Amino acid sequence: MSILANIDLIDSHCHLDFDNLTPDLDAVMARAAGAGVRACIIPAIDLGTARQSLALCERYPGVYAAAGVHPNSTADFGPQHVESLDELLATGKYVAVGEIGLDYHWNDSPREMQLRALEHQLELAARHNLPVIIHNREASDDVLAVLEAWAAILTGDLKALPGVLHSFSGSPVIATRALAAGFYLGFTGPLTYRKADQLRAIAAAAPLDRILVETDSPFLTPEPHRGQRNEPSYVRLVAERLAAVRGASLADVAAATTANAVRLFTLPS
Ligand SMILES: [Zn+2]
Repeated sequence: MSILANIDLIDSHCHLDFDNLTPDLDAVMARAAGAGVRACIIPAIDLGTARQSLALCERYPGVYAAAGVHPNSTADFGPQHVESLDELLATGKYVAVGEIGLDYHWNDSPREMQLRALEHQLELAARHNLPVIIHNREASDDVLAVLEAWAAILTGDLKALPGVLHSFSGSPVIATRALAAGFYLGFTGPLTYRKADQLRAIAAAAPLDRILVETDSPFLTPEPHRGQRNEPSYVRLVAERLAAVRGASLADVAAATTANAVRLFTLPS
């Protein structure tokens, strides 16, 4: 048996349904399996992607989906979105609500609209007892204020497993607040970038039982492939870097992050 076979990774955030991954997805998934990736989670960015990702869950073993409306897609968010999401989540086919959050970089949708959509979707997550996948871009203070208020009123399973701050990019203070509210931190390709010393320090200090690895494919490609298309097999590069910054073995980081993803998203172990 090769050393590769002993490494078990979960890419907890990859957009397998995006156009630039679908043409050769069989090969992409074969490479992922070869790198030890045994499960992938596809976040939605709108109702359409939430629906279409279910076909990929049926086509590939170990592929799971989330349903939610990304902040950049919330310009027309209204009661019909809440109703449709409620119906989708009631099917029991989704492992999370996401990706949802706030994005003040692009401002494709007015901030009040993003905030309203986030609050509605957090309510839905609580109602369906599902963790949330949080997108935060240049909106840390507002995201944390909303999440802290939400987490404070949660009960049951969700209180211990409220969700993940995907592709964590905040300050050490924001990391501390997110962890205190019960959230997990997801690390992606930027962990490998030259200037990411603060991010590496956060990744080194975070509790081992609260961290996830992800690619955010096709975006955020880790070194040494930066500039090319990202794909789930590269989650191994993120895990290797995470292991290096923590002074741990790849096997230990892989085992921990996989167990964390299984726990958070209630995946078959
Ligand atoms: Zn994403």
